[in-house]
Amino acid sequence: MGIAEAFKAVQARINSSALKAGRSPDSIKLVAVSKTIALQKIIEAVNAGVSIVGENKVQEAREKITELRERNTDLNIEWHLIGNLQKNKAKTAVHLFDVIHSLDSLSLAEELNKYSQRFNKRQRVLIQVKLSDEPTKYGVMEKYLMALLERLARMENLRPEGLMTMPPFYEDPEKTRPYFKNLREISVKTCEKGFPLKELSMGMSHDFEVAIEEGATMVRIGTAIFGERQVKK
Ligand SMILES: *Cc1c(COP(=O)(O)O)cnc(C)c1O
Repeated sequence: MGIAEAFKAVQARINSSALKAGRSPDSIKLVAVSKTIALQKIIEAVNAGVSIVGENKVQEAREKITELRERNTDLNIEWHLIGNLQKNKAKTAVHLFDVIHSLDSLSLAEELNKYSQRFNKRQRVLIQVKLSDEPTKYGVMEKYLMALLERLARMENLRPEGLMTMPPFYEDPEKTRPYFKNLREISVKTCEKGFPLKELSMGMSHDFEVAIEEGATMVRIGTAIFGERQVKK
């Protein structure tokens, strides 16, 4: 199956899970995850209707975005950073990305705010929440979330729009459901405390339908659109 076809199939599945869950398909944004995928294929996806592209590494995104500019295409792409961000790359990240899904500490927020100020930008961010005890997963733990949100509220050049999570991998997507439900419950709580965060970035190729049932507003989908990656991340 080609990329255009695969994208359309994924979009159809998103629409039908939304309707099944009693939600508007328009309330769900598809982030096409293109890490390790060649630029030509990304262009193919965008021509097929993809409008948001997600990368997990700043350097890789920079190369692609630069090449795209050099080719002088008139493609209109919203770039999202979905992978972990190190502080020393905050400046480049602010320069490149429309939305950063992986804000997970106060010190990173301060860097992002500093450069956003410098570039006269209001940087859209999602806070990555860590919902499991896996040592390798990034994100803030729920108990520190409110404190972080209070600090973010005073950073004028950041715009916190939602929460993101990356649950442990299970073959069976039903096992992931409690994590998605948990993230939504956390967003309800932060809203009650005066911090409305409407975006929920959750769900990947093998479990996005469950994520949509649990309230995802952004699904991050790579393999189901571009096929298996050469380099496993
Ligand atoms: C790679 C990646 C995805 C997409 O994974 P697929 O299983 O290929 O859909 C989503 N989110 C993050 C943070 C990723 O790194």
